[in-house]
Formats: sequence, structure tokens, C-alpha cells
Amino acid sequence: MKLNNSPVTQHQYNDHTFFLKRDDQLHSHFCGNKARKFMKLLEDEYPNTTTLISYGSAQANSLFSLAALAKIKGWTLEFYVDHLPQWLQERPIGNYRGAIELGAKVISVKEIGSELHPQAYIEQVRQPNSQCIVLPEGGRSQLSEYGVKQLAMEILGWTRFQNKNDFVVALPAGTGSTALYLHKHLKVHDIPVLTCACVGGSDYLTQQFNELGETDHPHILPLNAKHHFGKLYQQDYQTWLDLQEQTDIEFDLLYDPLMWQCLEQWQQDNPDKTIIYIHQGGILGNESMLPRYQRKYPELRNSHASNNAANTTW
Ligand SMILES: *Cc1c(COP(=O)(O)O)cnc(C)c1O
Repeated sequence: MKLNNSPVTQHQYNDHTFFLKRDDQLHSHFCGNKARKFMKLLEDEYPNTTTLISYGSAQANSLFSLAALAKIKGWTLEFYVDHLPQWLQERPIGNYRGAIELGAKVISVKEIGSELHPQAYIEQVRQPNSQCIVLPEGGRSQLSEYGVKQLAMEILGWTRFQNKNDFVVALPAGTGSTALYLHKHLKVHDIPVLTCACVGGSDYLTQQFNELGETDHPHILPLNAKHHFGKLYQQDYQTWLDLQEQTDIEFDLLYDPLMWQCLEQWQQDNPDKTIIYIHQGGILGNESMLPRYQRKYPELRNSHASNNAANTTW
């Protein structure tokens, strides 16, 4: 099975034209940057493998993508989480719901009476054998270079049919592996890669780049203020609503709003550059994030709607 050549669409945001690489549309379930990062596992044969093992948050985008991959390959996914809230078990939502529906086994280490971190639990108690493939949290692995390089080649191929040559590629970073490997394979073709640190700040992101063994890194745009991953920020929600309104595209609520805020200043300083933004998926995660935002900022939605009305000229 091979998945590639997601479409590129053109949009306007705050009076700037940008292009959007639609990796959210790679496949109905196995999509976004997790699909790129795990593509090697999809494409290669693993005749002895029966079980995929990973860990992370019960709402992680990687949980759903790994569940989809396991389903396609006929493997079992065991995904270890620190704890699984009662309300989530009773009313599954978002990536957790999607993963359960695809047959994933989500195992709470706390609930089975262990004090260990899920990663330690896998190593010390689960003790995977040769029939298992174990993946680090969020797919932070050199394994991801293979699929991300393919993404870089698709972008390069697309730019060759355009008249412009002032493109930059932009995408937010979690572990940063997607941005890092895009940079590695686009730099040689003079296409810069911009990113921002959504998890743990710029120094932490640089450290993650180094741990993957690469000394040449994508450009990290600075944040105006400290930003905690997964926390609800009014500005993020507003950015997401603005993006939705102006582009008719649903972006991810965890990463994309921050990147677009960083890009605002960058675009002012670099008016001649054209952005190719990577849509890295994550839409199923909005199923749990959006109701939280709507509950916290009910007025934002309304004022947004009334803004629209106010902007209409009769
Ligand atoms: C996982 C994910 C990211 C972060 O990807 P990294 O390769 O870990 O930097 C960004 N956006 C979305 C939607 C994701 O699912």
C-alpha cells in the first residue's frame, strides 16, 4: 500500500496568499504528519510482527494514527497511557474514540497498579518480544525521516511547476521531527523551513533536533509569550476561528493557531515570500478540544458571528 501526493490548495489569510499542502487528506484515517512519520511501517513488509506498542496521552493524534496503521496492517495496537479518566472511558471522544473504534487497546498503567512511567512499564513489565514494534512517544524517531523525505520531494515537485521561486515551508513542531527532516531534504533545494515550538519552548525543541542526530536545524520563530501545550488560550481559539472563516479549512486546535500567530510578524518582515503551509492533520483531536473552547469562551463564538454581521455592507 502506498499513500502520497496529497493536494495543494491556495488560500488567503489576513490579506496574504498562501498554499496549503493537504496532508490531512492523505487517507481517511491514516493521515497528517503521523502518516508521513509512520509511512515506512506502512510500506515495508514485517512478516513476524503482530503487535505495535507505543505510549503517550489518551488524546494524542499519534494514538489514532497508530490505530489506523495497525488496522491496515492487521496488527494489534497496545497504547500505554499514564491514566485514563473515568469520563473519557464512559464517553469516548476525539482521538481516543477513533482509536477504540479501530480496535486499539489503550492501557492505563495506573489502573493496572503500576507506578511506572508508561515507557518504563513497556520496557520492564511488558517486555516486548521480536513480534512487537515499539515506537517512542509522538513518533520521535529516525524512522520518520523516510516518509517526511517523501513529503519534501512532493513539495519540491510542486514548486517546480510554479513561476515563483520565493517559497518557504511553514509548520508547527511538537517533537520537531517533521520540521527537521523537511528542512534536511529541502535546504539543498534552497527552500527554507520555518517552525515554532508548541511543546516546551525553543531550547527544548533544539535539544530534540540534536537528539535525532542532526546539527543543521529549521528556523524556529520566536513566541511572544510562554505557551503551555494543551492549555486553552483565547488568542488561539480566535486565530482558529479566523482561519476557519477566511479559508474554509478546519485547522488543528493544538498546534496550528500558535504557528499562524508566529507567522504574522514574520510575514510583515518578509512580504515577498510565499508560504507553503503543511496541514498536518489532527482534526479528530478537535472533537475533544473544540467543546472545551466553546465552554470556556462562549462569547467568542457569538462576538465572532456578530462581527461577521457587522462586516456585511447592506
Ligand atoms: C503530531 C503533530 C504535530 C507535531 O509533529 P512533530 O513531528 O512531533 O513536530 C503537529 N501538528 C499535528 C496536527 C500533529 O498531529
